[in-house]
Order: sequence, then C-alpha cells, then structure tokens
Amino acid sequence: MKQVTFIGLGAMGAPMAENIIKAGFRLKVYDLSKERCENLISHGGMPADDLRDAGSGADIVFTMLPATQEVNSVLEGKDGILHHMTAGGIVVDMSTVSPSGTDSIAEACKKYGVRFMDAPVGRQVVHAIKGECLFMVGCDDEPMFLDVKPYLDAMGTTIVRCGGTGMGTRMKVVNNMQILTIAEVTAEAILLSEKLGLKLDLVKQVNADTTATNGQMQFTFPTKVFSGDTAPGFTIELAHKDMALAMEAANELKLQLPSCESAEGVYRRVKKSPLGKKDFSALLEYWCELNKIETPRIN
Ligand code: NAD
Repeated sequence: MKQVTFIGLGAMGAPMAENIIKAGFRLKVYDLSKERCENLISHGGMPADDLRDAGSGADIVFTMLPATQEVNSVLEGKDGILHHMTAGGIVVDMSTVSPSGTDSIAEACKKYGVRFMDAPVGRQVVHAIKGECLFMVGCDDEPMFLDVKPYLDAMGTTIVRCGGTGMGTRMKVVNNMQILTIAEVTAEAILLSEKLGLKLDLVKQVNADTTATNGQMQFTFPTKVFSGDTAPGFTIELAHKDMALAMEAANELKLQLPSCESAEGVYRRVKKSPLGKKDFSALLEYWCELNKIETPRIN
C-alpha cells in the first residue's frame, strides 16, 4: 500500500482526510494544531510527528493549507517535506494559491525530483463532509494522475481536468472570483429589497425563476446567513485572500476588472471588522448593520 500523508486539517482538510481514511486507505496526518491532529487520529489517521516525518518515505503528500505562504513553508521551509521526500514522490496541492505561486511551487518540487499536481477544491464544507468535492486538476502526466485519482475519488464526486500543471489553480481563481463577486451583489440586492419592503422568500423565489439566479442566493445564503448561521464555512479572511489572488493575476496581466476590484475592496474592509472570521455570507450582516436594518432571515 502507498504511503500517503495529508497536511492541513482545517474546515475543509479535516473532512477530506477523514473520507480518505473511510475509503480504507492508510493516511498519515499533520497540522500545526495538535487538537486537529488528534481529532483525525481518533478517526483512524496515523500521526506524523513533524514535517520530516510527514515527508519521509511518502509516495503522495496532499496539502490543504490557507495560502501560498503556508504551502511554501511546508514544502521548502526549514525542515519542509521536500527535504525529506524521495525522488519520484508526488505532492498534490489542493490549497487555493496564486497562479504565480503554484508555478513556483511546481518549480520547487522539480528541483527535488518530486512530481507536482495542483488540484484545488470547488464547493464547500458541507460537500467536503459528504465526500462531494469537485477538483480542478492541473496535470498532464497520466501515470501521476492515475496514482492520485483513487484518493480524489474518496474525497469527491467530480474531477475536471483543466490542462497542464498550474491550470487547476488558474481555474480555481477564476471560479472563486465569480462566487465572491456574486455573493457581494447578492448581499446588495437583499439590502435594496429590504429597503423597498420586499419579502426575502419572494426575492429568492423570483431570483430562482429568472436568469438572475445564482448559487449564493439559492444555496450558500439559505444554508448560512438566512438561517442565522455565520460560523465558517469559508471565512471572509479566506474570501479576501482569493479576491486578492484574482486582482494579483489581473494586475500581472494588465487587465481591468472593475467589479472584481470593487468586491476585493469590500472583502478587505469586512475582513478588518469583527466579522472577519465569520462565513463569507456574513457580508449580508455587515451591510445590514451599517445601514441600521435588521438582517432578514428565512426560517
Ligand atoms: P482553514 O484555515 O480552516 O485550515 C487550514 C489548516 O492549515 C489549519 O488547520 C491550520 O492549522 C493548518 N496550517 C496552517 N499553516 C500550517 C503549517 N505551516 N503546517 C501545518 N498546518 C498548517 O482553511 P480551509 O477552509 O480548510 O481552507 C483550506 C484551503 O482550501 C484554502 O486555500 C481555502 O481558500 C481553500 N478552500 C476553502 C473552502 C471552504 O469552504 N472553507 C472551499 C474550497 C477551498
């Protein structure tokens, strides 16, 4: 059996790792948080004492970390896993990082003779728990893809092959830019509808039956902020990180993306408020508080 390690046991990583274990694979787990490691060990994971232990002898290492900086540090930092993996091993980074970040991570792996695949994750924590993730895969090395696929299948239902190395990350940045910009537009639409005296359930119904429809109004907001639940989920902080990734890419390409730029400014502002660590659907609460209206709910 292959030796496989999973690093980053947060809101998404913990249920994803658990689903690999549930599928019958042996899995070493590692996180900076001892409590998060212990939780996975209680579900059948094997402890990695440190990054040296996480990387030594591993055939495949999955990373599900906050951002580019953490992935770089886990891979190439002091005692990072690349110093301990054997040539031919595979790193699969599932974190959402910048396109240029993923390119430099791929280069770092190459330097150590380690193969690299980017496979960032679409969908949300509820899907990760049910083993229904979507993966955007950047990989044109077929044998490597086949080695990794059984683990992706254990965590998800949908794999989209986006092209060669780095293309999964590029797809993820484009997709999250849409999700997060639409979430802000959704919050603004609800704010306006409240001031106009419209009922939230009817606003949602009309949205569903017209081309205005979108996943934030129909899925994210109803399962989170509409029911009064703004525990993350996907935090405003991470949402801002992703909007900043889209703007970073746009700036590098000298592209003007005015709606994206404006939404990035909103997330930057909300990140500094007490709602920064809440679910991104709490955008609605932010605007309601600012405009002194009660946040509407659907029971
Ligand atoms: P999270 O903040 O809940 O978890 C990150 C985990 O990484 C934490 O447990 C943290 O302790 C650990 N960590 C940080 N630095 C580390 C290090 N140096 N070594 C070991 N562990 C370290 O984040 P999340 O919500 O699970 O998201 C992970 C990634 O997936 C992010 O890039 C995010 O943008 C992306 N993503 C999140 C969602 C979501 O809905 N939450 C959905 C899709 C993709």
